Amino acid sequence: MKFDAVVIGAGPGGATCAWELARKGAKVLIVDFKRRPGIPVQCAEFVPLQLKHRYPHFFIQDSVAQEVESMVHFTPWGEVVTMPSPGFVLNRDIFDSRIVDLAVSQGAEIMLRTFFRGFDNGNVILENVLTRETVKVRADFIIGADGPRSRTARLTGYPIRSFLATAQFMMPLLAKLKDLLIFFRDYIPGGYGWVFPKGDKANVGVGVDPEFGVNVMNSLKRFKEEVTSSGIVANQIISRTGGWIPAEGPVEPSRGKVLLVGDAGGFCHPITGGGIANAVLTGSLAAQSIIEGDPEEYGESSMDFLGESLTRAARKRIKYMKRWDDLEFIIPKTWIAFEEYWKED
Ligand SMILES: Cc1cc2nc3c(=O)[nH]c(=O)nc-3n(C[C@H](O)[C@H](O)[C@H](O)COP(=O)(O)OP(=O)(O)OC[C@H]3O[C@@H](n4cnc5c(N)ncnc54)[C@H](O)[C@@H]3O)c2cc1C
Repeated sequence: MKFDAVVIGAGPGGATCAWELARKGAKVLIVDFKRRPGIPVQCAEFVPLQLKHRYPHFFIQDSVAQEVESMVHFTPWGEVVTMPSPGFVLNRDIFDSRIVDLAVSQGAEIMLRTFFRGFDNGNVILENVLTRETVKVRADFIIGADGPRSRTARLTGYPIRSFLATAQFMMPLLAKLKDLLIFFRDYIPGGYGWVFPKGDKANVGVGVDPEFGVNVMNSLKRFKEEVTSSGIVANQIISRTGGWIPAEGPVEPSRGKVLLVGDAGGFCHPITGGGIANAVLTGSLAAQSIIEGDPEEYGESSMDFLGESLTRAARKRIKYMKRWDDLEFIIPKTWIAFEEYWKED
């Protein structure tokens, strides 16, 4: 089998790239080991409004759980900081499969329950996770869209090495919320806690820097107690999830015929952990560079759009996060809602 491009990973990054390539007439194969794209959901599911402006057809009625207006930050020193943050809390399973459906409707082929094993003499080796049968596929380009623990990144040189560990419960809200809630706490080191509303429920989670040696589940349990006792959510766990968030910024996204998009390329924000919109954007940019016959250009275009903001955040993470004993000093320097974050240092 020979394709113009094989896309490893049917998340928002890979699916967007496949859709952009397929609609320009490229022969594309999408591969994912999941049974269905987007399931299980491992995400707090917020995306900014701008994503809908840029990609309106990615949004169908059921892909949005609710609209939100602002991000409200609760600091340990009692200050509450509100930042406008219009956008949506998604149903990620529906959102992700919508983009895959669009790609398939444009002619992309898809192989689910298929694991990308590696490369062999220029071939891509794929394995059916049920039968263990392998197939070799040839492709002019390989899109590594295989998420934070990208095998594609590892097999082509430099993998992501720095992560936030996350854990999340879905819990019933006691009263509906119109905003995203963010909590900075000493027991959530190197990260933060969040309550992101989805109608009468909320994603309640924490992300911690594993370097502090804190067990992420213990941190989540303490956060659950705090948001339960403060009357935000009822003391009931509807479902659980979690996962890894890349925290070091972009990692050489253009590697010859292999282009890394989304989390695989480190395009997740190293402090906020937001990566859905960046995955979609880099998926588009990678496709564009292939269509224009200049794949090297992807390294530059992705860095032009995202490099400055992501490397600034990565730099701040390295510089300040070790000072977690002094939250009043580091939070304003490391979080986007504070003026100090935007000052050069
Ligand atoms: C708990 C949590 C909360 C988050 N909250 C937010 C949020 O609110 N807003 C936001 O913008 N971002 C959030 N993020 C980050 C966001 O989820 C990612 O940035 C986004 O999913 C990246 O998309 P992607 O397409 O690059 O990768 P993914 O969505 O991770 O997709 C990668 C795909 O590759 C497949 N895959 C991996 N390896 C292989 C292989 N070897 N063979 C075949 N298939 C493979 C996987 O099955 C998966 O489907 C959160 C992350 C976590 C963990």
